[in-house]
Amino acid sequence: MNLVIFGPPGAGKGTQSAKLVKEFNLFQLSTGDLLREEVSKKNDFGNKIEEIMKSGGLVSDEIINNLIENKISNPEYKNRIIFDGFPRNLDQAKSLDNLLKKYNQQISLALNLKVDNQILVKRITGRVTCSVCNKTFNIFFDPPKTCDLKDCGQRKLITRSDDNEDTIVKRLKTYDEKTFPVLDYYLKKGIMKNIDGMQDINAISDQLFTIIGAVRS
Ligand code: AMP
Repeated sequence: MNLVIFGPPGAGKGTQSAKLVKEFNLFQLSTGDLLREEVSKKNDFGNKIEEIMKSGGLVSDEIINNLIENKISNPEYKNRIIFDGFPRNLDQAKSLDNLLKKYNQQISLALNLKVDNQILVKRITGRVTCSVCNKTFNIFFDPPKTCDLKDCGQRKLITRSDDNEDTIVKRLKTYDEKTFPVLDYYLKKGIMKNIDGMQDINAISDQLFTIIGAVRS
């Protein structure tokens, strides 16, 4: 099954997707991660993307749809994708439906993590990623511990360049204006499930496991 996970920046989409990957042998397709990979190449294309990300706006649909088609067309990921951070607007949602149709697939479930804005700012400014195992921690809520590859001596804790208070405010605004209306698109399809994203990490994942388990069986 293919899933979409929604929620404003800092809602825990990445953290929960990683758990779903393990539990259900899925593939996490994060458009933010794909874009950061392009940015790390330090070429003109990457620099242009970085500028947009730092402004808190959205990268063009054309760029995003190309990155996405690359993955959807790969038979290895067929019917086992969690879309994380995509679709971000209504046009992307429609393009996703068309692309999936082209490769004989569909979205079975859309999951929405609901979190209050005050909590989101603290979650985002506290977010750090381990340079060795790529695991994400939070200095306020989930302080960094021994990483999965047991090579913590080598690691740096990396903060994303768009995880600062100025950009966050803009990213939350972009979410409300552009992404929030997409929820209605999936609601009308009858495949939307809301989850209280203010609970602790394991309580949320338990709830997600139950919802997905019921749809899969
Ligand atoms: P994320 O890692 O999902 O929080 O995304 C970080 C930034 O990448 C966003 O603030 C956008 O600038 C950009 N981005 C990620 N996904 C998309 C998308 N589907 N469409 C447009 N821009 C995106």
